[in-house]
Amino acid sequence: MQLLDTIAAISTPHGKGGVALVRISGARALSVASRVFRPKSGRPLESYPARQAVYGSILAPDGEEWVAVDDGIATVFAAPSSFTGEETVELCCHGGILLTQTVLSGVLAAGARAAEAGEFTRRAFLNGKMDLSAAEALGSLLEAGNRQQLSLAYGGLGGRLSEQIRSCYESLLDVMTSVQACIDFPDEDLSQMSREDMQGALESTACRLRDLAASYRTGHAIAEGIPTVICGRTNAGKSTLYNALLGREAAIVTDVEGTTRDVLSETTVLGGVTLRLSDTAGLRSTEDAVERIGIDRTYRAMQEAELILATFDRTRPLSCEEIALLEQLAAREREGTPVIALLNKADRDERCEQTERTLLQTLSRTVTLSAQTGQGLDELARVVEELFLDGSIDLRNDAVVANARQHAAVAAALAALDQALEALSGGLPVDVCCLDIREAMRALSELDGRAIDEQIVAAIFSRFCVGK
Ligand code: GDP
Repeated sequence: MQLLDTIAAISTPHGKGGVALVRISGARALSVASRVFRPKSGRPLESYPARQAVYGSILAPDGEEWVAVDDGIATVFAAPSSFTGEETVELCCHGGILLTQTVLSGVLAAGARAAEAGEFTRRAFLNGKMDLSAAEALGSLLEAGNRQQLSLAYGGLGGRLSEQIRSCYESLLDVMTSVQACIDFPDEDLSQMSREDMQGALESTACRLRDLAASYRTGHAIAEGIPTVICGRTNAGKSTLYNALLGREAAIVTDVEGTTRDVLSETTVLGGVTLRLSDTAGLRSTEDAVERIGIDRTYRAMQEAELILATFDRTRPLSCEEIALLEQLAAREREGTPVIALLNKADRDERCEQTERTLLQTLSRTVTLSAQTGQGLDELARVVEELFLDGSIDLRNDAVVANARQHAAVAAALAALDQALEALSGGLPVDVCCLDIREAMRALSELDGRAIDEQIVAAIFSRFCVGK
């Protein structure tokens, strides 16, 4: 990728629309644009002030000649006051598919190169217009599928997380400078920090990082989604629940046992939490080889799940498979995986008291509901929200760790700081903890992308589409 090239792409989605936007960025953006755009006023495009919308004709080559193909608007953004930080021109034309491509081909013929996927955002990052977590937030904003994800991504774009990380980094830098001064000039009293001061500074930074790490629970629940498994015996109502949560008929519902044989997966939002929901084959003893494989997959999905919605028909006594399932569920709960036992078919008058009692005694969370009528689903939403969202976090205004990469960086910084603190409180010389503090700073700078491995940067930007 050449930063010196002037690049161009269609930045609006492919398809017919009222308007489309072709973006040109790079040192020669204005000269490229001047070849394809002629202001109606007769004045050259260069003579207009930056950020002024200029009305004119858009030209494209037709054999040897350049001919007008559309009327549109050009806006020039002078470097560094543009999205990429480079000189940029945005050409707005009408949104025809062939027309937009003709405009782009004109821009390319005038000397720009076709942009690669994510190249505009990558340039913005390389030119210091946004740090890596903000670039990720922009990616999430484009992908957002619900309001919570929008709020979280928009908050990330505002740079709260980067601000917090930068401030932690600077506190550590202060400590390092002090320690370094001690080491380099042992005879001078250059250290402004006592050992206690250092310990205090490291502890308060560790405390802030711990809060950030904890925010990932909410970030993960909203942005990445919680892998959730619906399990239970055949005919407990799993597929009915799956459809009720998705709001449409995604799984086949019948009273024939063993209908769902494979694991179905889709994403939905419940109680503000994004659930990556899997409906699984019902658990029962079976001779059917395909159904058996489905049941094995159910158990595997349960192992990987971060939330288990165990569905029981509360009108029936527990089967042998359900009693075996209960043991597994209790074990998962002891390991820390939230399990919610659903007492389904609450719309029916019959109920099996033994089933209800056993469930209440074995598992810590139960919700009575009817997957068919929807009664009790709001209670389920409340329990899910309580489990995964920290109500004290304001998604738009607080720093929230929103993905696994960011969380790994915060966790690495925290582990290094804890070691430094252990060295300090163990009475070791202050310079011993230098390596650990340096490691914590490295991890934090990785989160912002200041010292990040080129491959990780490439991987992040490759997720963007062309034109962004
Ligand atoms: P699965 O085998 O666990 O996926 O169960 P299904 O969702 O296919 O449901 C089995 C049968 O139970 C179907 O006839 C459903 O209509 C019925 N059923 C599911 N949920 C409820 C419910 O809440 N109330 C009542 N009355 N029937 C339900």
